[in-house]
Amino acid sequence: MPDLTEQSASLFDRASAVTPGGVNSPVRAFRAVGGVPRFMASGDGCHITDVDGNTYVDLVCSWGPMLLGHAHPEVTAAVQEAVSRGTSYGTPTRPEVELGEEIVSRTPVDKVRLVSSGTEATMSALRLARGATGRAKIVKFAGCYHGHVDALLAQAGSGVITLGIPGTPGVTEATTADTIVLPYNDQAAVTAAFAQYGDQIAAVITEASPGNMGVVPPLDNFNAFLAKTCKDNGALFISDEVMTGFRITKSGWYGVDGVVPDLMTFGKVMGGGFPAAAFGGRADLMSHLAPEGSVYQAGTLSGNPIATTAGLTTLRLATDEVYARLDETSATIRQLVTTALSKEGVPHHIQNAGNLFSVFFVESSEGAVTSAGPIRDFAGAGAQVLPRFAAFFHAMLDAGVYLPPSAFEAWFVSAAIDDDALAQLETALASAARAAAAVEN
Ligand code: PLP
Repeated sequence: MPDLTEQSASLFDRASAVTPGGVNSPVRAFRAVGGVPRFMASGDGCHITDVDGNTYVDLVCSWGPMLLGHAHPEVTAAVQEAVSRGTSYGTPTRPEVELGEEIVSRTPVDKVRLVSSGTEATMSALRLARGATGRAKIVKFAGCYHGHVDALLAQAGSGVITLGIPGTPGVTEATTADTIVLPYNDQAAVTAAFAQYGDQIAAVITEASPGNMGVVPPLDNFNAFLAKTCKDNGALFISDEVMTGFRITKSGWYGVDGVVPDLMTFGKVMGGGFPAAAFGGRADLMSHLAPEGSVYQAGTLSGNPIATTAGLTTLRLATDEVYARLDETSATIRQLVTTALSKEGVPHHIQNAGNLFSVFFVESSEGAVTSAGPIRDFAGAGAQVLPRFAAFFHAMLDAGVYLPPSAFEAWFVSAAIDDDALAQLETALASAARAAAAVEN
């Protein structure tokens, strides 16, 4: 038997010598599932191929951006043409104007500012919210991830309304002292927080539909409730659509619930596989930003012409037909997963927000496939049989399907997934479900 991970293992050793943990972003390291992370060498459509020559059906899609699949011919051609004219000038360029126009036309924001990562987008949106309101406190929800912004790397303390405690060494108590962490989907907790701190709260930030604790959609018009509560208290409502934007619908989760936020953040799909992200909102709020206003925000590579060309080309290709296809593919995969797991008696829940979904390996399942299932918050998402996911993940990998290497992540589909890939997925799921069933609870 050839060693199918020889080259990946060798690169991982070399990477570990020069990079902490051998990776440039922690979840890539396979710590949650064990084993050697695969080093990818190429991608084509719905497939990625590693340095040992193993090809996988890709259900990570670079954690969201690759909506159209890998190396889409038109995106590749547009990027190559742009690169041939130079890669960065530090001046305004046409594609960033056109990308800004495309975002404004798809979403409720009046104006956008382009940045290079989702982290920068949420960090800048918070600064703008604080600058515009003159208030300090921020409300966030446990289990929502907004990038590695210091003030947002806060964990909830033991009470329902608690000021955040630093979620990682290196973030000081002073930095999270103005962050209030609440349980997700809990309107009473929000009401209580505003009763206590209402005139000090600059903004509530939430994932439009959370995908970073697994997919846990907002229940009972939670976003509309947040928007109204903010409005009534002079605070701003920030909807983080970095993951959901331009993926779930042409706009994002906004296309599902129609709640108009004061500020929004975007990333992932809008960069077409390059580092591009944005934050935007009402014109009067955005006018607080330098050089129009006094809230400072900047970036050497912001609106980079290659990244904006890739993003613009991707968005222009992401038509209604593409979103219909993504929805259909996602529904088919969800059905294949639940059929395979049910056949082997593996308890699970599958929750989805449009085409974004995740599989929770819970202790028992009732009504296994529901869009707004029983997992409503971070505590619920945590109650999973993690060794079962690890066995499932590795069996899928061995059968040529690349899943997110953590039980707390969304699965991402691309429009490039075809019938052959679905057939491969069905075969892989049969063996993976058996592997999961073999794990004792
Ligand atoms: N916001 C959300 C909802 C995200 O899912 C992410 C990343 O996964 C971010 C912000 C941070 O984006 P980036 O990794 O580009 O900094």
